[in-house]
This record gives sequence, structure tokens and C-alpha cells, in this order.
Amino acid sequence: MYDYHIHSNFSVDSNSEIQEICKFAIEKRLRGICITDHIDIDNPEYNIENIFSYENYSKQINECKSKYGDILEIYKGIELGLQCHVLKQNENFLDNKYFDFVLASIHTVNKKEMYDLDYLKGISDVEAIDLYFDNVIKCIACFNNFDVLGHIDVFRRYLSQGEKSFIYKKHEEKLEYILSSLININKGIEINTSGLRYNLSSFHPISEILKLYGNLNGEIITIGSDSHSPHHLGYEFNKVMKLLKDYKFSYYTIFESRKPRFIKIEG
Ligand SMILES: [Zn+2]
Ligand SMILES: [Zn+2]
Repeated sequence: MYDYHIHSNFSVDSNSEIQEICKFAIEKRLRGICITDHIDIDNPEYNIENIFSYENYSKQINECKSKYGDILEIYKGIELGLQCHVLKQNENFLDNKYFDFVLASIHTVNKKEMYDLDYLKGISDVEAIDLYFDNVIKCIACFNNFDVLGHIDVFRRYLSQGEKSFIYKKHEEKLEYILSSLININKGIEINTSGLRYNLSSFHPISEILKLYGNLNGEIITIGSDSHSPHHLGYEFNKVMKLLKDYKFSYYTIFESRKPRFIKIEG
């Protein structure tokens, strides 16, 4: 199996050495990994440019490839934070850099960080969810230099009344619009298994969204643990395989040089 969402110490919120991640991945018998460290330009909380060095990142990944490449496929990715006002800077960041995979994620809504709950202040959960989806719609309408949209219902982690405030039916229309837009521009979604680690009832996204994606003939699904510690690599991936089969998906996806490769789900 392939874990396509992993953070190393090139992200502010992880201390894992890339080499350490590779060793754990081999121990866990993963076939491949993609390191996806954060690039969140103009994040209200921290200044990413101080920590991410593309040159060092590439160097360390290349060193690991020569060391472990015969037993582990290692890919170079990035988790790119989308905000409407930095899309041009995102484009500039990607310019002239090689990545196998660009995972686009929303961590900030209207310049307010979700993680520290700033964006929830003074609004109801339903309004917060609506704002988040509007933000996704705006961002993907103006920016398409990515491969997959990350943790599409990440707000479930932060809602003041808990994830039960997210009633799928209330937002189905917007979700359908978002998923169709992604499919039209050949972009995928991810199953992010960290939902369970955040004590939610399921992965990101909830199964209704996965089902809708399948019904709309969406085919590109990457799988990621979103691990910030190598202990979480491949977290609950067997459950993901079962879930995908239950929803009649026969393949999941990995990316190399920004091109999708479809991996058959065994069994
Ligand atoms: Zn993220
Ligand atoms: Zn992440």
C-alpha cells in the first residue's frame, strides 16, 4: 500500500526525520510513501518560509531514494494550503520546482485559521461549514495546479457542537458542485485516515461524500494517514481498502511526476 499524506520535520508541526519515516514505512511493509510537507503561504499562525527549504527537502528525499529505493518507493509531494488571496503566490512557489504530487488543502477560511478555532468565533457551525465550502468553490475555480483536494471535510475536527453539526443533506448541493468541478478538471480527493485519530466517527471524508464521488464517476482517490509521527504511517489502511470495495471502487491512485497511476485493490 501507498501512504500519500505524510509530514516530516519540514513541517512546523512534525519532528520526524525523513529517513526515520522511510525506516518505519519499510517496517510497516508499505510499498511506497509520498512526503507532503506544508506550504501555507500567509498563514496567520506561522511563517512557513522559515522552515521549508526546497533544496534540503529534495536533497534528503533523494538521499533516502538511493538508500531505500530498492525496497520502498519514495515520492516528493507537498501539501499546499489554498487561500483565495495567495493563489498567485502558490503558483509562483510551484514554478520551476519538481514535485510528484501536489495535495491542496484548506486550513484557513477568510484569513482565519481553523486549527486554533478562530474561524468559528461568532458564527454557527452550519455557517462555518457553508463558509468553508464557499471557500473551496472559490479556490478551485481560480487555481488548478494541484492533483488532489485534501481532507475535504476537515472542519468536522473543529465544530463547536462536534461533528454531528455536519448534516450531509444540508450541504449536499454544494458538495455535488465541488466534486463535479474536481472531476471536470481531473482532480481527485483523498481518504485521510487521521479522522479516526482525531476521535471522529470516521475518516475524512464521511462515507456519504465518498459515495457521491463514486456516483459522479470520480476515479481519483489517494490514501493518506496525515501522519505527523512515523508511528501513524499506514494508519487503518486495511479499513480503507474495505471501504473502497464496499463503494465499488476497484482502484486507488498514486502520483508520480504529477501523473496518476491506478493501483488495483486486491481481494
Ligand atoms: Zn492538512
Ligand atoms: Zn497534512
